[in-house]
Amino acid sequence: MKDLTQCVVNPLVSTEGFDSLSVPVHRGSTIVFANAEGYATRGDRGHTGYTYGLYGTPTTRTLEAKLTALENGAWTFLLPSGQAANSFAALPFLRAGDRMLIADTSYPPMRDFANRDLVGFGIEVDYYDPTSVADLERRIDGRTKVVWCESPGSTTMEVQDLPAIAAVAHRHGALVGCDNTWATPLNFKPLDHGADLVTEALTKYVSGHSDLLMGSLTVRSEALIAPIRSALGRYGIGVSPDDASLVLRGMETLGVRMRQASDGAMALVERLTGHPLVEEVLYPALAGSPGHAVWKRDFLGASGVFSVVFTPAATPHVSPALDVLRTFAIGASWGGTRSLMAPMPVRRNRTARPWTGEDLILRISVGLEDPSDLHDDLTAFLDDIAARTAGAQAA
Ligand SMILES: *Cc1c(COP(=O)(O)O)cnc(C)c1O
Repeated sequence: MKDLTQCVVNPLVSTEGFDSLSVPVHRGSTIVFANAEGYATRGDRGHTGYTYGLYGTPTTRTLEAKLTALENGAWTFLLPSGQAANSFAALPFLRAGDRMLIADTSYPPMRDFANRDLVGFGIEVDYYDPTSVADLERRIDGRTKVVWCESPGSTTMEVQDLPAIAAVAHRHGALVGCDNTWATPLNFKPLDHGADLVTEALTKYVSGHSDLLMGSLTVRSEALIAPIRSALGRYGIGVSPDDASLVLRGMETLGVRMRQASDGAMALVERLTGHPLVEEVLYPALAGSPGHAVWKRDFLGASGVFSVVFTPAATPHVSPALDVLRTFAIGASWGGTRSLMAPMPVRRNRTARPWTGEDLILRISVGLEDPSDLHDDLTAFLDDIAARTAGAQAA
């Protein structure tokens, strides 16, 4: 080989004996074949084989296999974000004239995707009360191809009775998809409770360090693999092996991080419950919280994300009081090592139509800091809200 060729062709190096515990990062777009016959028949390799970088590398396959096992599914696809996973849980199964029913408390970008893109494609979109199987029953029909769930619901934390919802959906021939980002596959297994498709924003707890975006879509049965795989190929959706390797690394500590976050959350939840400024704490793991019974029946644990509804007098002072925080950071997204607070605009009384007004709920994600620092920060924050509320009342 001439020098310029040597620069391009990689020598074969033995991997024998290099039994590392970490997953190698395999980068690649082109996959080469041993001979012409191998290239000509590459399509026969199916969804498990390697044909082109977009369809997976040994690195992404490792992450897919780990998630498939945890979700008790048939196969997992990786997508560039949690929202992409949500979109592609629905898109391959809907055609003009079909209907999709979405839990009214779903992640807002999922609503935007449905309202703009799906409706633009001629698909009918409707929303059902996440806690009422009767409401779903009223709205579903034979044209409904996908019923979308998210449990607990974004910010307002409604826990859904997935087995009952799946029974209704399946009776009408619809698939059931569930966004499982809050619980992670450690604390809830939607496919075991009737869902056909489950998505995770790996961006949050599974990767766990607020440094990347990725989503997963796991299917219950082999029959659901081909439609999604071909849609992802047509839209050109794949993920970087470098990011997949970071998710694999973060995932090794998922169990201990979740336990620390949920213990920390419960400590703060108990402090906030009954506080004079607080109307309600929304955390399904809290006894007496709405949805606690279904959560206890179906879930295996909780995460560190909960929401706080302040009294009407205190609510306007919540956002300005965020400036006193020293340990909590102010920000959306969640599931990393840092504790976060973010005021979220929500529609109260979501199931009443038309909706009336907007309200602010404070979403808190508990991270891995020393609990006493979080405790002190929360005290300063509540004191500041109390002072501002009293000041406004005196004025
Ligand atoms: C954050 C989030 C998503 C989207 O994840 P991205 O990776 O940020 O796109 C989807 N669903 C839920 C419930 C989320 O909280």
